[in-house]
Amino acid sequence: MLEPFKNEALTDFTVAENREAMEKALEKVAGEFGREYPMIIGGREAVSTDKIESKNPAAKDEVVGIAQRGKAQDAHSALDAAWKAFEGWRRTRPEERARCLTNLAAKMRERRMELDAWMVFETGKNWVEADADLAEAIDFCEFYAREAVRYAAKQPVHPFPGETNELVYIPLGAGAVIPPWNFPSAILTGMAVGPVAAGNTVVVKPASDSPVIGAKVMELILQSGFPEGVINFVPGSGSEVGEALVTSPRTRFINFTGSRDVGLGIVERAAKHEEGQLWIKRVAAEMGGKDATIVDSQADLDAAAEGVAISAYGFQGQKCSACSRAIVDDKVYDAFLEKLIARAKQIKVGPTRDRANWMGPVINRAAYDKVMSYIDIGSGEGNLVCGGEASADEGYFVQPTIIEGVDPKARIAQEEVFGPVLSVIKARDFDHALEIFNGTDYGLTGGIFTKNAEKIDRAVRECHCGNFYINRKITGALVGVQPFGGYNMSGTCAKAGGSDYLLLFMQAKSICQRI
Ligand code: NAP
Ligand code: MG
Repeated sequence: MLEPFKNEALTDFTVAENREAMEKALEKVAGEFGREYPMIIGGREAVSTDKIESKNPAAKDEVVGIAQRGKAQDAHSALDAAWKAFEGWRRTRPEERARCLTNLAAKMRERRMELDAWMVFETGKNWVEADADLAEAIDFCEFYAREAVRYAAKQPVHPFPGETNELVYIPLGAGAVIPPWNFPSAILTGMAVGPVAAGNTVVVKPASDSPVIGAKVMELILQSGFPEGVINFVPGSGSEVGEALVTSPRTRFINFTGSRDVGLGIVERAAKHEEGQLWIKRVAAEMGGKDATIVDSQADLDAAAEGVAISAYGFQGQKCSACSRAIVDDKVYDAFLEKLIARAKQIKVGPTRDRANWMGPVINRAAYDKVMSYIDIGSGEGNLVCGGEASADEGYFVQPTIIEGVDPKARIAQEEVFGPVLSVIKARDFDHALEIFNGTDYGLTGGIFTKNAEKIDRAVRECHCGNFYINRKITGALVGVQPFGGYNMSGTCAKAGGSDYLLLFMQAKSICQRI
């Protein structure tokens, strides 16, 4: 019997002992830079001729590790291995499957600081962000383990005279897992072990910006008792390995998280029936955001400035949930803006190996160029009042940036930047704020700062987004507590970490017997 689910506590780095442990882990990990990691297909290591060099975004010439650049053929072999493993795994008792997931969580706890350190170097997360990422990965394992057991229990059906009736959930088959780089342990792990807990097998194609963390998670998976082939690991480009997995007639489902354009492309290609394909592919596609916080005339402006700054600049704004629009009531606009600028200016930017740097680099050159081009666009559309400075000499560092006086329909207020750039938009009144809030194609996270209970009620009803927060930051959804996923162009609303998630990877069978 599993204990009731409980969220994993974060490491407290104000405690000297924890800081020392993290320093040690950073040192150890830095000593392991440049190692090569294999693909894992059917439990066996495999290599390809081409490689992916994963670089440290804070020191751009530093090679953190080398992953394989798999080919379409590797994706197909991995699908074969996954189908082979499915025969046994689908018959494995849910309690046994759950045990593999909780074993994985335990391994992650044992190697926590080390995995945190890899995230600091491979993705530029600060210590707390890296640790939260790993805690979320652990939570996904623990939560979905319990969910698998819950779905295996007797399901309610209405009685009917002369018959016994039951409904059972069965898995779908072998699927593709295609995560982004920005939560390299949490999202990769959750997207893989959710379907697997439900009895499916998967091929994981990690993002090309974070394959080393993927490989580290895979190492732990291999030590956690999953039979070979249940979770396969094939790094490679999205256009080759990703494409092969998406279009294969042998792929039963696709679990994708990433950008809108890639997501829409996957939805389209997955819909096409291929020769020999027996099913309609299931697709979960969780995509981007243009998330907003309303700062109402009756808000606590200090709390609002804090909440907005943390949501906008945490992990350099590279979260799908990041606040990229502050919608501020005219009556408090100037006062709020002043506090926000002051708060943003306190943020220290630099390599996050140093705990003092709260903001690190953006992930790569392309991201840096994209962010800079949006700062340019935004400066033309509004007034640059904070930040804007950047340097790509050592790593890809961009200062926390605020553009104010932005029109709600400006590009900087509509398009996902995925960097530390916040648009501040003036609303005439509360109605106008709600209208601006809903005026994008996205609908992922959002929030409001106000002390007025009626306005809270209205905002809860009218703000069209999957995760809504009142008087706090709009990032950091907890597994089991705030199931995560959005509307419209933010995706299919998979609600990761929620009690409906496993259903996406199962199908129900009704069984009726005449007595
Ligand atoms: P991305 O560029 O869309 O990539 C996501 C994944 O898709 C990567 O593994 C990528 O591989 C792969 N891919 C690329 N092209 C593909 C193709 N043609 N076929 C199949 N797979 C393909 O996104 P990202 O830059 O990694 O992540 C940032 C985005 O993710 C942002 O838009 C963010 O908002 C979103 N996100 C959403 C959520 C959510 O829960 N809604 C959570 C986190 C992030 P390569 O790396 O090899 O290109
Ligand atoms: Mg990418």
